[in-house]
Amino acid sequence: MINSKRDKLKYKSIKGTKDILPDESYIWIEVENRIRNIMHTYNYKEIRTPIFEETKLFARGIGEFTDIVGKEMYTFVDRGGDSLTLKPELTASVIRAYIQHNLGEKQPLTKVYYISPAFRQERPQAGRLRQFHQFGAEAIGSKYPIVDAEIISLSSKIYESFGIKNYKIKINSVGCEVCRNEYKTILKKFLFEISDKLSPESQKRINVNPMRILDSKDEDDIKATKDAPLILNYLCDDCKNHFNQLEELLNFLDIKFEVDGRIVRGLDYYTKTAFEIISTELGSQDALAGGGRYDLLIKELGGKDTPAVGFAAGMERLLMVLQKQNQNKFQAPKPKVFIAYTDQSFEKITFNLAHKLRSNGISCEFDFLKRSLKSQMREANRQNSDYVIVIGEEEINSNWLQVKNMRTGEIQKVGIENLENYFLGLDE
Ligand code: AMP
Repeated sequence: MINSKRDKLKYKSIKGTKDILPDESYIWIEVENRIRNIMHTYNYKEIRTPIFEETKLFARGIGEFTDIVGKEMYTFVDRGGDSLTLKPELTASVIRAYIQHNLGEKQPLTKVYYISPAFRQERPQAGRLRQFHQFGAEAIGSKYPIVDAEIISLSSKIYESFGIKNYKIKINSVGCEVCRNEYKTILKKFLFEISDKLSPESQKRINVNPMRILDSKDEDDIKATKDAPLILNYLCDDCKNHFNQLEELLNFLDIKFEVDGRIVRGLDYYTKTAFEIISTELGSQDALAGGGRYDLLIKELGGKDTPAVGFAAGMERLLMVLQKQNQNKFQAPKPKVFIAYTDQSFEKITFNLAHKLRSNGISCEFDFLKRSLKSQMREANRQNSDYVIVIGEEEINSNWLQVKNMRTGEIQKVGIENLENYFLGLDE
């Protein structure tokens, strides 16, 4: 039924995109505000980058052999002949801006956050959209594991502050250029030996991105790689040390985590720490957030050799868990006062009264559809306003209004001239 109605529509939103309608947008606003507050508590400042960038920024910054660059980007040639791409993630854009505006010179440790749409042409399903929203943070300029610990603490604090239960933090190290290359050789050897048991997709990946096979969701891959060598056993001293210090710091802060040698992240520029926050309530798309260190990216994109660490999280997935766990108890905005009127001749007076209340910051609504008093009262109920005033002959003649408190049923007499002061003086 709904489908056939949808089919008849002249214009529809694009598959994998979602309208955030008025009965939901207030939840987004509230959630975004809370995220901003937490970011500010940790002294991260907001950065906003354009919605599209040169395609080559992402090809370089994410890695040509990743799924994102290989098959998911929204890329188009503009009228000037330039290849542009809607941002599929934020880190590459943030780093481009960091380099372009010399942010490192102004602030040796640059701490920024974002809340932004991102675009990937994936197969839409629950928790996977083509236009989705990410929030995240990047700390650029320190190689020390205490910053990795801060990023993990910040990202998990966000879930904790919303009262979310049953989320897990999984950490790993993906090593550095030196130990990872050695490990990759060992891993490839293992994978070639069992390649006939791998999914066709993973078979293709052995040479280009063998570590990704370890976090494949495919049942055959999971079975076949059960005894695969894991990088944690092959880390060089520097990476091992970094990882041990991170574990120590997280323990010191009493942040619960699991070590999972299969967390590899899809992106090429990660070094050392990689982590994911997952929820058992999200089904197959269980990642709430992911992040890690990317000491190689800034140089790769033409900046100075600068270490950095960050995380990115999905807004829609946070909202899904909030809803499932009944934690989205936010207050929908509503008018404080609804002014109804008994006769059309009072419409202008009502408008003026509403204008005065609104000018004093008191939210207020009245009828625009020339409806009967009965319908107006129904509307006041639908709007869920705290107070209702009815303007009639008697009120106009006497200059006194009856203000009804819709929660308690109590009625107060208030002089028309005094109405805004009455509401300003209410102490609620
Ligand atoms: P990633 O950059 O792939 O690690 O993504 C970071 C986070 O963004 C994930 O943990 C998800 O919560 C979210 N995310 C990624 N892709 C999508 C998508 N297509 N739809 C909705 N959320 C997504």
